[in-house]
Amino acid sequence: MTPQPKASHFINGEYVEDTKGTPIPVIYAATGEQIAVVHTATPEIVERALASAKEAQRTWASMTGTERGRILRRAADIMRERNHDLSVLETYDTGKPLQETLVADATSGADALEYFGGLAASLTGEHIPLGEDWVYTVREPLGLCVGIGAWNYPTQIACWKGAPALACGNSMVFKPSETTPLCALQVAEILHEAGLPAGVYNVVQGMGEVGSALVTDPRVNKVSLTGSVPTGKKVYAAAAEGMKHVTMELGGKSPLIVFEDADIDNAVGGAINGNFYSSGQVCSNGTRVFVHKDIKERFLARLAERVAGAVLGDPQDEAVNFGPMVSERQMEIVLGYIEKGKAEGARLICGGERVDRPGYFIAPTVFADVTDDMVIAREEIFGPVMSVLDFETEEEVIERANATEFGLSAGVFTRDFTRAHRVIGALEAGSCFINSYNDAPVEAPFGGVKASGVGRENSKEAIKHFSQVKSVYVRMGDVEAAF
Ligand code: NAD
Repeated sequence: MTPQPKASHFINGEYVEDTKGTPIPVIYAATGEQIAVVHTATPEIVERALASAKEAQRTWASMTGTERGRILRRAADIMRERNHDLSVLETYDTGKPLQETLVADATSGADALEYFGGLAASLTGEHIPLGEDWVYTVREPLGLCVGIGAWNYPTQIACWKGAPALACGNSMVFKPSETTPLCALQVAEILHEAGLPAGVYNVVQGMGEVGSALVTDPRVNKVSLTGSVPTGKKVYAAAAEGMKHVTMELGGKSPLIVFEDADIDNAVGGAINGNFYSSGQVCSNGTRVFVHKDIKERFLARLAERVAGAVLGDPQDEAVNFGPMVSERQMEIVLGYIEKGKAEGARLICGGERVDRPGYFIAPTVFADVTDDMVIAREEIFGPVMSVLDFETEEEVIERANATEFGLSAGVFTRDFTRAHRVIGALEAGSCFINSYNDAPVEAPFGGVKASGVGRENSKEAIKHFSQVKSVYVRMGDVEAAF
């Protein structure tokens, strides 16, 4: 598979190019080389996408759920058949190691298409008896939905938004991140190959302005964004102006709490998964690792031993398990945080620098003796930087874990199950883990509280965010009126 797509956009069932749009170079993060180019959507392209989606939605919604679901499930099968090529493309798009993309991206997208394809036929309303009268409810689609993606999981995000939207009878215009514009086009192509009517799922490229043009268009009924908190605030406000539905999947600075009775190797494994998978570019990462002071040095020693086993290198080599930052800019941001950590007096256990090779690699970095007031403990870094903080009591750690504007995820490692449930119950977070970290099966709701977002993706919860309920009162007798 060559990374250069057939054209920049996918509208009304076909690839569309418009070279009048500003070129967006696609840079391979492992080498710094340009591997493709796409063009920003011009206002004409945005208009074509919105008009096609608006038009196609009616026909799509008039099909039965079984028919819609069959198309989504067929798309899931095609995705699985092409998993290898799609994973290679995902690696070019993001720089994530093929070892990861083979099992976490097109496969996760296919899971969403299969799951929501399976649910499509079961979306029904209720019958509410009221004596001889009754009310019935109808679960209806919202209409035209806009999806806007971040750069860390381009295939997965395109599917996590598209699959529930389409299952409910909506159409979608999806704008991938300008940093990773390639994979969503494959999702659109596969959906149409599976029989999706033209115009139901469209992809347009561009930066924030294109996203903003989509969000503010009066034809759009719903906006689902995956991105940072500052972007989320802007998009939420713009959507509110038009009274549109929103789902906001935003950033985090999640706590992972390791109690003194935890299985150390499992807790270290959880901390590695929650900080270094995708080179730390995961929104739900447990980047504040609170370790009980009695086991802190044992935890750090085992962590350093295991982090030394990370295999950096060409991400297309399946033996490599640690890749570069997605872009030079992201690398600079993360290196800036590492310098702040050093300057603030955190103890560097490992990493802490750029790796001397082409591309945007940063060594997996662990800071110990981090305190709550340090910048590295407060701000989302979105890179391979773990902060280890000490704690002594359960009460204290709960309070400190919650002392953040974010609330995406939280994890607890302990052998004491009563404590595990008590602590998870007290943590302000949407997606939580006990003796595990960062599992995201399609069957489980995913999303945050506080500044980390509103709404949920995946699971039956997502259906509520891509549909609305109409209620119909039916009177069997005569109408009484005052005059
Ligand atoms: P970002 O906020 O910079 O951009 C996200 C998307 O929004 C991009 O497609 C961008 O072009 C678009 N955008 C920017 N300004 C816009 C505007 N005014 N109107 C409409 N669209 C606009 O985020 P990013 O740097 O691509 O991704 C990293 C961030 O995403 C991190 O904060 C991370 O935590 C978050 N994230 C969250 C989740 C989640 O599910 N909660 C998943 C992945 C990433």
